[in-house]
Amino acid sequence: MRCSDCEREAIVDQPYAGAHRCGPHLIRSVDDRVRAEFHRQFPRFRGGTIAVALSGGKDSSVALAQTVRYFARRPNVRVVAISVDEGVSGYRDRTLERARELAGRLGVDHRVVRASDAIGTTVDRATEAMPGTIPCSFCGVWRRRLLNDLAREVGAEALVLGFNLDDLAQTILMNLARGDLDRLARMAPHRSRQPGLVPRIAPLAAIPEREVYLYAVEAGLPFDHAECPHAARAARNVYREVVWRLEEAVPGTRHALRRTHAALLDRGLGGDEGAPGVCPGCGAPAASGLCRSCAYLERLRTGGLGAEAGP
Ligand code: SF4
Ligand SMILES: [Zn+2]
Ligand SMILES: [Zn+2]
Repeated sequence: MRCSDCEREAIVDQPYAGAHRCGPHLIRSVDDRVRAEFHRQFPRFRGGTIAVALSGGKDSSVALAQTVRYFARRPNVRVVAISVDEGVSGYRDRTLERARELAGRLGVDHRVVRASDAIGTTVDRATEAMPGTIPCSFCGVWRRRLLNDLAREVGAEALVLGFNLDDLAQTILMNLARGDLDRLARMAPHRSRQPGLVPRIAPLAAIPEREVYLYAVEAGLPFDHAECPHAARAARNVYREVVWRLEEAVPGTRHALRRTHAALLDRGLGGDEGAPGVCPGCGAPAASGLCRSCAYLERLRTGGLGAEAGP
């Protein structure tokens, strides 16, 4: 299979675009699409700090490299990598080593917050204490909270996520299937700024996961291939499978889901009002009562195993 742009052998098939790309042309096409996403999602940025959520996996590593590249000629922009150590032993410690390596190589400041320090527990401990709850549900909530706190601490105007096209399509489908229009309206990339929340942008939102992976390999970025030991229980897995099968049967489905989401937002889904209240536990925006992060911590506490408990 030849590259659609040159005589080289292709390394990736892009059926949704009717194209094949060799390594150098994949790199160029990813660079072009990411640049267009930055323009589209973040058009009026005058300067300041941009935080990039960095886990050490392929997606966030590419997101950091792309952010540094995009702002390279803007001396008034400071890029800071921020990481959360959720406390999944044998996994996060490994990926964070790669994160440190990449940040060092790119000359970017790197800040890490540990869940055990910030909220007094870890995902491993909470998993043991709440065996009936899927770990990703509290892990994701706590990670988002700690990333937001850290992004605010470094004075970030925006928080860049390594969310790729597959992640986006899965999340859209999951929220649609659950009838959760609020979450569909609130999901990243954000179009507006809400009090207390650093807007999250997703410059890889147009890039399929496979191409992000191949980009990371072709560009020689250090990243970790490890999979979290709790990943098999993630509710998202079924949507990953469905999106993958739909894309295989009808190339372009992921892009179509993305367009559907954009069209719903254009037609006023969610409006701009954000969460109406403030969490009495931490002061974060919340629909009513405790935010989800504090609610999980409360469950841990009242379940007889305090947030401080554990090894
Ligand atoms: S797979 Fe689930 S538990 Fe593991 S790091 Fe991701 S969200 Fe957390
Ligand atoms: Zn080529
Ligand atoms: Zn709270």
